[in-house]
This record gives sequence, structure tokens and C-alpha cells, in this order.
Amino acid sequence: AGVLSLYFILKGPIENMRHQVMEVEEENRQAENIRSEFVANVSHELKTPLTSISGFIETLQAGAVNDPETRDRFIEIIAIETARLKRLIDDILVLSDIESRMDTSDENINVFNITDDVAEMLEPIARRRNITVINEIDDTLEIKGSEDKFRQMMVNLIENAIKYGKDGGHVWVRGYETDDEKIITIKDDGIGIEQKDLERIAERFYRVDKSRSTKVGGTGLGLSIVKHTAALFNGELKVSSKPDEGSEFSIVIKK
Ligand code: ADP
Repeated sequence: AGVLSLYFILKGPIENMRHQVMEVEEENRQAENIRSEFVANVSHELKTPLTSISGFIETLQAGAVNDPETRDRFIEIIAIETARLKRLIDDILVLSDIESRMDTSDENINVFNITDDVAEMLEPIARRRNITVINEIDDTLEIKGSEDKFRQMMVNLIENAIKYGKDGGHVWVRGYETDDEKIITIKDDGIGIEQKDLERIAERFYRVDKSRSTKVGGTGLGLSIVKHTAALFNGELKVSSKPDEGSEFSIVIKK
């Protein structure tokens, strides 16, 4: 066998390898694009409250501090914007923790206990809007994974259901299993989401209505955290919603 036949024997496998290398390069490029887009978004989101804070401080320094009413109003705005910065940074940290996949704990999580805890923790916010959280989780339902991460998903979904719920409304938390899936749903009878926004709401920093979301203190990262975390549980985030009727978010975990 000459060099030529050796070439023909190896040609296929070499082509194959070249293909695979190109695919890996393409994946790296895509990951890099997502990363730089994320950094650009983060910088923009951090700059907005910072610009506002420094603007109000400058105006105070320029003399507004001498008028007690203006002073108090500006300080109030600075406090709100600072709290917003803190929430953003907390969310970004949670999101990057997910990406690094550091927490690989494998606990047996009782879903009822966690959601009950979370509902209790959020009760003060719910009470302010006269919203009732009803926990109908099957109390034998268990899933495996990191309890902290699971709790975070429940906080984000139940808190959203309250934030975007209606005064005097309800939040239903349900959990059950079928032959091949475990399903946890958070349903509200609040403002709902329009069809055109539905597929985008789990994108990082996506908010349906910036002014409305800002009013209720959103960062636009909550659902993207839920979506990424659900994947760690071998699960998926699903949403159905109707404007003015309410929304239902489900975590569907393959058994
Ligand atoms: P945010 O911090 O703004 O709440 P999220 O990622 O948690 O960010 O949600 C993204 C957007 O999806 C929100 O700004 C809101 O417009 C919409 N949304 C989330 N949950 C609900 C819900 N239960 N009902 C109506 N709209 C919702």
C-alpha cells in the first residue's frame, strides 16, 4: 500500500476531525458573544442607577442641600437607586454562580416545606397588596438537587406572582408528579403577559414594561435565573399567560 492509499484511508477520519474542530470553534465563538453581550448589558444596567445617584449628589453639593424639602426628596431617590444597585449585583452574583455550576449538592428536597417557607417569607409583601398565597403542593413531592438553588427559583416565581398580581388577588402554588415528570406551578390572577413578550421574558434583563417593572423593583434577571436553575434540575421553565387574567409558570422536571 502506497502513500496514496494511506491518504484515502485517513481522508474520512481527518475530514471528520476538522469538522469537529470547526464545530467547537463555532461553539466557543457563540459562548464568547453571549459573554460579551452579558458584560455589556450588566455595565449598562449598573451605570443607569449610578448616573442617577451621582447626578443627585452633584445637585445636592451645588446647593440643593440647603432646601430641606429638596434635600430629603433627593436622599430618598438616592436610597432607592442604591437598593436597586444592590439587587442587581445580588442577581448577577446568583446568575454567575449558576454558570460556574459550583453547587452540586444532591439533597432530597421536600417541595412543600420549601414553598411554605418562601410563602411565609414573602407574606409581608403579599399582605401589603392583600394577596393570598395558597399552597396546594402534594406534601410527599420530593426532588433531588441543591436546596438553596431550588429555594431561589421558588422565591423568584412566587415573588413575581405577587409583584405582578392584582390587589386582593391569589397565588396558587401546586406540585404533583406524573409517570415521567414532576411539575411545580405558580399561578396568579394578575396583570398577565402579552403573547409577543412571552417568549422573551426569560431573557436576561428583559422587562415587559420598564416603567412598570421599575415601579415594582425589577432587575429583569429573576426569570433568567429560574430558567438556568431549572436546567440544573433536568427541568424546564414553561409559561402560559393572558393579559388581565393572569400567568402560570411551571417547572417541569424529567424523572
Ligand atoms: P423582574 O426583575 O423585572 O421581575 P424577571 O426576569 O423576574 O424580572 O421578569 C421579567 C419580566 O416578566 C418582568 O419585568 C414582568 O414584566 C414579567 N413577569 C414576570 N413574572 C410575571 C407574572 N407573574 N405576571 C406578569 N408578568 C410577569
